[in-house]
Amino acid sequence: MYKKHNFGAGPCILPAEVMEHAASAILDWNQTGLSILEVSHRSPEFEGVMIKTERLVRELLNVPESYAVLFLQGGASTQFSMVAINFLKKANSASYLDTGFFAQKAIKEAKLFGSVDIVASSKDKSYSYIPDHYQPCADAAYLHLTSNNTIEGTEMFDFPKPGLPVICDMSSDIFSREINVRDFDLIYAGAQKNLGPAGMTLVIAKNSFLDSVDHPVPSMSDYRVYRDNNSMFNTPPVFSIYVAMLNLIWLKANGGVGAIESLNKKKAELLYNEIDRNTLFSGTANLAHRSRMNVTFTASSPEIEGRFLDLATSLGMVGIKGYRTVGGFRVSLYNALPFSSVEALVALMKQFEQQIILEECLPKTVFDS
Ligand SMILES: *Cc1c(COP(=O)(O)O)cnc(C)c1O
Repeated sequence: MYKKHNFGAGPCILPAEVMEHAASAILDWNQTGLSILEVSHRSPEFEGVMIKTERLVRELLNVPESYAVLFLQGGASTQFSMVAINFLKKANSASYLDTGFFAQKAIKEAKLFGSVDIVASSKDKSYSYIPDHYQPCADAAYLHLTSNNTIEGTEMFDFPKPGLPVICDMSSDIFSREINVRDFDLIYAGAQKNLGPAGMTLVIAKNSFLDSVDHPVPSMSDYRVYRDNNSMFNTPPVFSIYVAMLNLIWLKANGGVGAIESLNKKKAELLYNEIDRNTLFSGTANLAHRSRMNVTFTASSPEIEGRFLDLATSLGMVGIKGYRTVGGFRVSLYNALPFSSVEALVALMKQFEQQIILEECLPKTVFDS
C-alpha cells in the first residue's frame, strides 16, 4: 500500500492495516450501515470505542488506577495554556525546562497566567542537548518538561524526580518507549505523531493532582469536567479517537510498547551509524540525547544538501527536510515507519557519497560532455 517512504514529522505515517480499516469504516462501520463519520458519539457502539481506547492506553502504558485517561481537542498547543490555567496558581511560580521550540511555546503561554521560572535552557547551543543538574524552586506549582524535542532532535532519557508535580509534553515520543507513568502528574500528547490522525489530544493525569485545583476554570479548560463526563462533555473527535484505537490495537498485536521500543532503537541506530560514517553528513544533537523519533543532521554544504534532498524526493522519500527555522535534515522514525524505509534511506546515503567521491576524482569535463 505504501507508495512512499514517509519520514514526515507529523501528521505522520500510520500502519497500512490501520489506514485500510479506517477507510472501510468510513464507508460502512462494522456492518452498521453507517459511516464512522456519521454515528452519534452517544451511541452504544461509539461508547464501546471510547472504553476500548481508554483500556488500551491503560494497558499499553501501564497507567495506574489513580490516573485519569482523557481525550481532548486543540492539540498539544492548547495544553500549553490549559496546564497553566489549572495549575499555575498566582501565588507562586511554575518551573520550565527550556529544551526547544515547543518548550518555548509552552513557556510563552504559561506566562499569561502567572510567573514562570526557566530552571535551565539549552538555547546556548541551539538546543542540541538536554540540560541536567538543575534545581526547580521548591515551592513551584510544577515542573514542565518536553520528553522529545521534535524539531531539534533531542530526547530525555532520564526524568527528574524533583519532589514537586511533573507535567510532561510527550507529543512526539509517547508509545514509542516504555515510561513509568508514576514519574509524572500529568502527561499530554497531540495524537498525530505516534497515536493517530490529528484532532485528538491524549491526557493522562493523576486524579489527586486534578483535584488540587481550587479556583474556577472554564469548563472546556477544566480537566475534571472531561474526567467526570468520560471525555464526552461535548462532542469528542470521534474519527480521530476511532483511528487511535485501531492504531493501539495494531501496537498491541505487534508486541506492545516494549517490542516497538526495541525496533525503534534498531531503526535509530542504523541511521545514526550511517550519519556518523558518511563523510557528507553530520548529526546535530549531543550523542547522549539523540532522539529515536526525530533524527536531525546537516550536509557538508548547501549544494550537497539540495542535491540529496532532490534525489531522495525523486525516489519517493518524503518529509526529510529540516524544520524551516533550523534547516538541514530531519528524518522521523515513528512507530509505524518500517525498518525497510530506514534501510532504503541509508542505502541512498551510501550511494550518494560514492557518487560525490567519483565526481570529485574525475575531471569535470567527463560530466560536461
Ligand atoms: C507537534 C508538537 C506539539 C504541537 O502539537 P499540536 O498538536 O500541533 O498543537 C507540541 N509539542 C511537541 C513536543 C510536538 O512534537
